[in-house]
Amino acid sequence: MTRLLEIENLSSGYAGVPVVRGLNMHIDEGEVVALLGPNGAGKTTTLLTTSGLLKVLDGSVDVMGEPTTFGAPHKTARRGLAHVPEDRSLFFGLTVQENLRLGLRGSKSEQADGYERALELLPALRPLMSRRAGLLSGGEQQMLAMARALVSKPKLLLVDEMSLGLAPIIVERLLPIVRDIADETGAGVLIVEQHVHLALEVADRAYVMSHGEIVLEGTAAELKERQDLLEASYLGGELEEEAS
Ligand code: ATP
Repeated sequence: MTRLLEIENLSSGYAGVPVVRGLNMHIDEGEVVALLGPNGAGKTTTLLTTSGLLKVLDGSVDVMGEPTTFGAPHKTARRGLAHVPEDRSLFFGLTVQENLRLGLRGSKSEQADGYERALELLPALRPLMSRRAGLLSGGEQQMLAMARALVSKPKLLLVDEMSLGLAPIIVERLLPIVRDIADETGAGVLIVEQHVHLALEVADRAYVMSHGEIVLEGTAAELKERQDLLEASYLGGELEEEAS
């Protein structure tokens, strides 16, 4: 099993002030790992640091066996990391097809392969290719953001709050796609997700963060059994109810 991401004793934050402290985490090939926790826990900060958009203040972040490169996220991307940010970063004035082309990498045949593979995983985009991204529904926009990451054939995919602003029924349809991505491409996938119960349905393992630290970790099966610990790690806050 290849280790794709190894984070050891990480501190990172903003303007030299750590908001994430002493964080340890790993992801292997083919795994879906959920990063859970209340608002402001440090989940996005962890993803940004992994991609090289924020500085490692202490500890280490190794992506595909090499340290992530702060200030040069394209270098980490070349090693096979793709990051779907919380705001999805789509070009609303461009079509679906044009947005997808922006994610292409490598030789012509690799590009064709990546493009086809992304559409096999997200076939609902096929009839929308000539539509402008700004005219897509929220769920379709999220699918496009994922597909744009997938056309680069990533080995490690980071997805920050794919469900943001989406109805639970749409989230229920979208989240299993990350499972398919891991199973069918062998990529490791890290999802930041507020829908805890849905995330644990598709993930192999999960880490729960609170106040910048990991306070709970385990297999999805273990965490589903320990609802009490999960709730406690959300600082007494109620875990949101899922629509069933
Ligand atoms: P959410 O679920 O609300 O997105 P999160 O777990 O992703 O939360 P982060 O966005 O990583 O949390 O934020 C962690 C902490 O860092 C918070 O206290 C937040 O206010 C702070 N923070 C985030 N962005 C900045 C910034 N640009 N400058 C300074 N502090 C920031």
